[in-house]
Amino acid sequence: SWGQVRDELLKSVGKNNFSTWIEPLKLAELKGGIARVEAPTKFMRDWVSRNFAEQIRQHLEKAGEAVERVEFHVASQRTATAKPSEPRARRTSRGQSRNNDDIDLPGAPLDARFTFDSFVVGKPNELAHAAARRVAEGGPVTFNPLFLYGGVGLGKTHLMHAIAHELQARHPDLRVLYLSAEQFMYRFVQALREKQIMDFKEMFRSVDVLMVDDVQFIAGKESTQEEFFHTFNALVDQNKQIVISADRAPGEIKDLEERIKSRLQCGLVVDLHPTDYELRLGILQQKVEFYRGQYPGLKLANGVLEFLAHRISTNVRVLEGALTRLFAFASLVGREITLELAQDCLSDILRASDRKVTIEDIQRKVAEHYNIRLSDMIGPKRVRTIARPRQVAMYLAKTLTTRSLPDIGRRFGGRDHTTIMHGVRKVEELKATDSQLAEDIDLLRRLLDR
Ligand code: ADP
Ligand code: MG
Repeated sequence: SWGQVRDELLKSVGKNNFSTWIEPLKLAELKGGIARVEAPTKFMRDWVSRNFAEQIRQHLEKAGEAVERVEFHVASQRTATAKPSEPRARRTSRGQSRNNDDIDLPGAPLDARFTFDSFVVGKPNELAHAAARRVAEGGPVTFNPLFLYGGVGLGKTHLMHAIAHELQARHPDLRVLYLSAEQFMYRFVQALREKQIMDFKEMFRSVDVLMVDDVQFIAGKESTQEEFFHTFNALVDQNKQIVISADRAPGEIKDLEERIKSRLQCGLVVDLHPTDYELRLGILQQKVEFYRGQYPGLKLANGVLEFLAHRISTNVRVLEGALTRLFAFASLVGREITLELAQDCLSDILRASDRKVTIEDIQRKVAEHYNIRLSDMIGPKRVRTIARPRQVAMYLAKTLTTRSLPDIGRRFGGRDHTTIMHGVRKVEELKATDSQLAEDIDLLRRLLDR
């Protein structure tokens, strides 16, 4: 039932999102696999359908309804005027009555899992974490803005949500607004279109804490930048805290106005460094605790987490994805999670995070395997016992690295790219009929795939 779905949504989106976005929704109809959901305003309809559609659909299915699609509509005039159940933003009770009490905050949903508790601290992120903690205390503003930057999947969004959760828990009256730069633009453009720019400005200037994620998104978008700049200044003037994230340092964001760059730099700029082995292992250990609860009875062999932390060095999102898949797969086939299982089930991830096999590695391994000298790999000898392994190495160089043929040629003693091409083709051809060769290659690939 809808009540059940709402209960589930309350759990998954959090109290604030729930009361702002979900509570005012009505399930008007459910027929032929289509759920018709009504929102009180056009803006809410758009927002909910952009941000919560899939969750709503899934919860409906879990509640036993076969739902193919969820459609969102603005509640018909009759019901809408009867009692416009506009979402009410959190109030501020600090100081005198404020005339902006009734302004809705169009914040993006916060992920309930992104808290300080679930954030594993290590050397690469300790500074960012400490700064985030400080802001989350909600005391007097000490640095403004806090600018967090770092590569994909290093925890910027997680930290921002953690700040928002913590602030809301400590200071329920504070008006905290978190959204992505893309959503900022979306709201801005919509306000322009609907001639509600004054409302827009008023709304953004009424918050106590503004958090804008992935600000690099507004690079090159002139009028959005302009508006962002004014919002930013207005809030700083009122001594309101601002938290910004981006995928690079302020000075390195192309097509961002100079005055904005310098504004962004005048607070505290901290970066999240790429993860190191210890941090990755720590994150895996924490996640495993969660999976043990989800899949009781599943066995995890020693060394698997260490292996993953060692091998998957791209980003934390990929690391998590690997673990999720591993547990799901192991429980499906009812097997213990061993190193072999991990290698099998994660081969694509392992390969992708492994752009580091060098041509030299390949030559060394192949020479070792066929028991020839490494110098013969690049030397001129044409006897079959040497030429064939050399071609195997060429083939592996072509398939395991992103090097070009001329580049590979240079590393094989200055051979021409056509020679390399020929070697690669030859091996491809032979592999189809020569099972010993196919096996050799398979083994070598596995040895190198690390
Ligand atoms: P970003 O916004 O920097 O691209 P996210 O904050 O979305 O990255 O993080 C990607 C995923 O990795 C999220 O699921 C997040 O919870 C997780 N994650 C990143 N860093 C940590 C950490 N230090 N501890 C626990 N989980 C982390
Ligand atoms: Mg992010």
